[in-house]
Amino acid sequence: MIEVELYRQVADLAVGRTIRQVDAPDPWYLKGGTSVNQIRSSLPGRVVTGTRRVGKLLLIDTDGPTIGLRFGMTGRLVVDGRAPIERLQYSSARDSPAWVRFALAFDGAGDLRVVDPRRLGGVSLDPDESHLGVDARGVRPAELRDLLARSRAPVKAWLLDQGHVAGVGNLLADEALWRAGIDPSRPAGSLAPAEVRRLHKHLVATIDELTRRGGSHTGDLQVARVRGATCPRDGAALERRTIGGRTTYSCPHHQL
Ligand SMILES: [Zn+2]
Repeated sequence: MIEVELYRQVADLAVGRTIRQVDAPDPWYLKGGTSVNQIRSSLPGRVVTGTRRVGKLLLIDTDGPTIGLRFGMTGRLVVDGRAPIERLQYSSARDSPAWVRFALAFDGAGDLRVVDPRRLGGVSLDPDESHLGVDARGVRPAELRDLLARSRAPVKAWLLDQGHVAGVGNLLADEALWRAGIDPSRPAGSLAPAEVRRLHKHLVATIDELTRRGGSHTGDLQVARVRGATCPRDGAALERRTIGGRTTYSCPHHQL
C-alpha cells in the first residue's frame, strides 16, 4: 500500500490530460474479464479526472471507465519517465521495454506506464471495489477492535487479508506488529483493548512514516529480516516463521 500510495501521487500528474492511445501488449495482464478490445475502444479520447487508492488497488478515474491497477510485488508505475520507486524489494534494478504491461499515451506529450517483470500485477476496467475492506490508513480504533474481535485467525494473517482492512502487505504487517509489541501468531480476537489501541496507533504511524521514507522496505525491522538476526530494539534472537502463508519475523522477547 505504501508503494501504491507513492504511485497514486505520481499518477496525479496525469489528471486533466486526455488519453490519446492505449498499449496493452499482454492480454494475460488484463484481469476481471477486461479485454484488449474493450480497452482500445473505451479509453482513447477520455480525460483523466482523478486518482484514488483503496488498499493496494490504484484507481484512475476518467470521464469514461475507471482504470484499476494492481502492482503485485514487482510492478512499478512510471509517469512521464518519473518513477517514485527505482527498485523494489523483490524486483530487478534493470528495466526492459518488454516489461511494460500497460501504457497510456497522452495528448501532447507524456505517458503512464506499468512496468512489471514478473507479471504479478494486473489491469482492469471498472474493478469491483465492494469486496475490499476499509483502507488501513483510515480505519478507526473502534472499527479495528470490532473487526478483530470476530476472528480467531493469527493477527498477522488477519492483517494481510484485504477483505478485513485493505492495504497491509507482508513487510508492513511485520513492522507494525513489531513496533506494537504484539506476537503475530496471536488470535486476532484475543487482543485486549489496550493492545488493539497500540496496534492501531502503530499501524497508522508506520504507514505514514514508511510512506515518507519511500517504501515498505524502509522499516526499522527491515535490516533484521535475515536468518540469525537479532531484534534492533532489545537484541534478542528473532523468530522466523510462516504465518498467513508469508515469511514472518518477530521478537519473542518484546512481542507478546
Ligand atoms: Zn525485541
